[in-house]
Amino acid sequence: MISDALTTVRQRIAEAARQFARAPDSIQLLAVSKTRPVADIVTAIESGQRCFGESYLQEAISKIGALRNYPLQWHFIGPLQSNKTRLIAEHFDWVQSLDNEKHAVRLNAQRPTHLPPLNVCIQVNISNEPQKSGIRLTELPTLAQAIAELPRLRLRGLMALPAPCADFNQQRLPFRALHTAYQQLQASGLALDTLSMGMTNDLAAAIAEGATLVRIGTAIFGERERG
Ligand SMILES: *Cc1c(COP(=O)(O)O)cnc(C)c1O
Repeated sequence: MISDALTTVRQRIAEAARQFARAPDSIQLLAVSKTRPVADIVTAIESGQRCFGESYLQEAISKIGALRNYPLQWHFIGPLQSNKTRLIAEHFDWVQSLDNEKHAVRLNAQRPTHLPPLNVCIQVNISNEPQKSGIRLTELPTLAQAIAELPRLRLRGLMALPAPCADFNQQRLPFRALHTAYQQLQASGLALDTLSMGMTNDLAAAIAEGATLVRIGTAIFGERERG
């Protein structure tokens, strides 16, 4: 099941890439394994998947420990809190949900010296939803410059989680806005290479608008009970 689903997701990515004149290998697949048991992750690994996204810290740390003998890349994609930054800095390869300078400073100070710098994406509240995580576009350039100064973090790009929407053309609009912001930061001199956008229901729209990393849970592992 999971291996067939992964094949189907890879085909969807390749198809969207072809349709929108993107190089298929310019789009990375992050398998979002939050709430899924270790056995499901092992099945995905056996089908060639190496990058996994998790949102719940304690659950993630126990999985990372259980799977430490595999060469995997772990991305934290859930909401950040100050009391979580140390364990995240110690266990993850990437954080995609960074949205304020205080957390950036903590992650920078807490990243162990024996590990490479922590890869980070800034989460942008692209639809300006009042209760949602993510920085507003107007505040993005200042935060990006501040993070770029921190030696134990490596600013890789932007992440967004727009409000769900069923219409393909409507889905494209926030992704286009994020892509524009990404290009503006690049033009200001930041060496960014990651535009993380697109989930199970808006994958093709994100690829149409330039996603370099899509975060897919449901289409690989099935419906979640929570999260
Ligand atoms: C859960 C989650 C996903 C995966 O969503 P699906 O719709 O299951 O593909 C992607 N990104 C983030 C930040 C998530 O929390």
